[in-house]
Amino acid sequence: KLSTRLTQIAEQIPAGSRLADIGSDHGLLPVYAVRQGLVTEAIAGEVNQGPLDAAQRQVNEAGLGHVIQPRLGNGLAVLEPGEVDVITIAGMGGALIVTILSEGIAKLAGVSRLILQPNVGEEFVRRWLLEQGWYLSSEQILEEDGRTYEILAADRLENAKQQNEELYRTRVLEGEQGLSVSLSVTELVQFGPYLLDGADPVFCEKWQQEILKLEKVKASVERSDNDESRLKAAALQQQIKLVKEVLACLP
Ligand code: SAM
Repeated sequence: KLSTRLTQIAEQIPAGSRLADIGSDHGLLPVYAVRQGLVTEAIAGEVNQGPLDAAQRQVNEAGLGHVIQPRLGNGLAVLEPGEVDVITIAGMGGALIVTILSEGIAKLAGVSRLILQPNVGEEFVRRWLLEQGWYLSSEQILEEDGRTYEILAADRLENAKQQNEELYRTRVLEGEQGLSVSLSVTELVQFGPYLLDGADPVFCEKWQQEILKLEKVKASVERSDNDESRLKAAALQQQIKLVKEVLACLP
């Protein structure tokens, strides 16, 4: 049975798409997407031979060799421009996802949707999408096997810039007892503009955990007493304060 994480990623694929799943590992996502009738053809890209072989076996066992092509290569280098409509990149760090997209930017011509699931560093992905004019159309958060995942879907819309301006416009969250916090684009990129509206328990839990992590880092920084560590500790304290304020103001 496919993980909830991969199932939810697949649910973001518009029916009838041609898919490239980059960093496909065992090729589970493209096989599922084809079986569900979401995808007419797919490419499973892998930079490592071992996972590529696993994907090839998976595709053969599913009898889908005529519609899914495993290809060996780095990031989007496995694609020809215009070959696919949708790209999924899941289960790696946000910084790596951004590197893959930036290095392969020419291959994005003709791609209408990106579905990205960073394990960490979601803010790098949101920032890249915003800067590159992809409209962030949905965000989901889920917990599975004790880990939290965010799934970001972005569309190439003609008016993406304008839509993003709306989405990332400075907003004020109002909490109880007169509490409020103003969030600029930097903070909206950090937390996720839709996730902030939803107040999903998983979202709250993720940021509660983040406070604990930040407090630990701050305590360790404070062990050395010099100007640099004092500056670092102050920045961490600012960040902790922000996260607490946001949590206090969620619906
Ligand atoms: N996408 C699957 C998922 O979400 O379950 C597999 C995630 S797995 C943790 C990450 C995979 O990405 C590995 O199989 C790794 O070999 C592959 N990978 C890492 N960097 C890559 C790159 N630059 N291009 C293609 N694949 C890459």
